[in-house]
Amino acid sequence: MEKRKIIIFDTTLRDGEQSPGASLKDNEKLVIAHQLARLGVDVIEAGFPIASDGDFEAVKLVAQNVKGPIICGLARTNEADVDRCWEAVKHAARPRIHTFIATSKVHLEEKLKMTPAEVIKRTVNAVKRAKSYCADVEFSPEDATRTGQDYMCDVVRAAIEAGATTINIPDTVGYAEPQEFGDRIRYLFKKVPEARKVVVSVHCHNDLGNAVANSLAAIEAGATQIEGCINGIGERAGNAALEEIIMNLITRKDYYNVTLNIKTREIFKTSRLVSNLTGIEVQRNKAVVGMNAFAHEAGIHQHGILQNKRTYEIMKPEEVGWTGDNLVIGKHSGKHAVTALLEEEGFQLDQNLISQITARIKELADKEKSVEREDVIAIARDITHQLSEEEQFVKLEEFTVTTGSAMTPTASVKLRVYGDLKIAAGIGDGPIDAVSNAIWQMVDPSLKLVDYHLKAITGGTDALADVSIKLIDANQNTFMARAVDEDVIRASAKAIIKGINKALNYRERFQTQE
Ligand SMILES: [Zn+2]
Repeated sequence: MEKRKIIIFDTTLRDGEQSPGASLKDNEKLVIAHQLARLGVDVIEAGFPIASDGDFEAVKLVAQNVKGPIICGLARTNEADVDRCWEAVKHAARPRIHTFIATSKVHLEEKLKMTPAEVIKRTVNAVKRAKSYCADVEFSPEDATRTGQDYMCDVVRAAIEAGATTINIPDTVGYAEPQEFGDRIRYLFKKVPEARKVVVSVHCHNDLGNAVANSLAAIEAGATQIEGCINGIGERAGNAALEEIIMNLITRKDYYNVTLNIKTREIFKTSRLVSNLTGIEVQRNKAVVGMNAFAHEAGIHQHGILQNKRTYEIMKPEEVGWTGDNLVIGKHSGKHAVTALLEEEGFQLDQNLISQITARIKELADKEKSVEREDVIAIARDITHQLSEEEQFVKLEEFTVTTGSAMTPTASVKLRVYGDLKIAAGIGDGPIDAVSNAIWQMVDPSLKLVDYHLKAITGGTDALADVSIKLIDANQNTFMARAVDEDVIRASAKAIIKGINKALNYRERFQTQE
């Protein structure tokens, strides 16, 4: 029997970008899209064009520049959404419009306030309108897994009749169980035989940790397109992790007997790129792409591995492009070594940025003996995340802190705020708290620090400190910032000030126009 081809639909730039804390600039989305094309995904969902002008521009940019995959945009079932989506994706060699409407009872009654018949009518209109622009049209009944199976089949039948070429069944809220979800797909093929003539896809969320298992169950039931995100990022608990689905299908090809376009050696690089640009870390024990995924700690395992790797290793690290070497950069390492390492990590930087990063590394190497891979990445992130186009309304001039086992930590901080030099003192539970309290006396008190995270990049008391923070303003807008420094207090002050500048830039741009 001929092997079925599984279409890999990547929505890292759309659903993944909706991850709490992630936000990508247009050029960062383009860099990720190019890497997804190298990985060999079949479809890239680049964004939701009507959501904002930024989203529209990003989808258009990807459609204009990325060759190979189908470029898809998301649209609700109203005309304005479909039209706007087409304006963004039409630049692609192979455009796709993906339109969706909720079909579950709770969504119909509470959100849409529409009857089941009205939803079918809206579906048909939207698919027909999309079809008038574009041959390739995907339709999703949102919250399908909490929709009655027969009504779901009615909506799907109407969408196919109107011209949809892909039908996607989303487990929008991550509610399904694998066996049950597979049965739902089987039921769909039975009740709607015309579904065999189109592509049947699934889109699973991970709220109960079942996203990958549900996707695989759907493949067994006959689905031929899988939607997901690199590293499993996405709304709430995230989407199905594409790299895990891919490696299931490849490692267990004896079981699934399907084919893919994917170049697995690009997986690790893609994972690191997405993590580096979104700022969402990959957990160490994550399947396939975690730092520990190929580490063998137990003595008995190490012994087995030394005898023959197959004893405990079901995938080869190099198969997913995991190089494993912790390349150490010293003060004599030049730009080439730094560029090579950063490219391996998915960064694509111009010479000017590489020079800045190399200079910071040399500075650090002068103080420490060696600089590890993670240090280099942290510095690169720090420099690339600096506000380039934004104004520095608040600048850190200097600070001093005194602390000890028998005294209250006290800080004095000197800032330049809108050009004026200001000095304030603060006390706190610790030296960072003291510095933070001093800073807040000089800046807008309606901004509040709501989250603070400190990470030591590499082991040892001389490790680089990586601080990320979150601020909110009076209107509940959130601003994230991070900074890296050898000094934990300086890293904290820099991160807080970066966040304040982000908030002030936002205010200048959007609120003064009201
Ligand atoms: Zn989703």
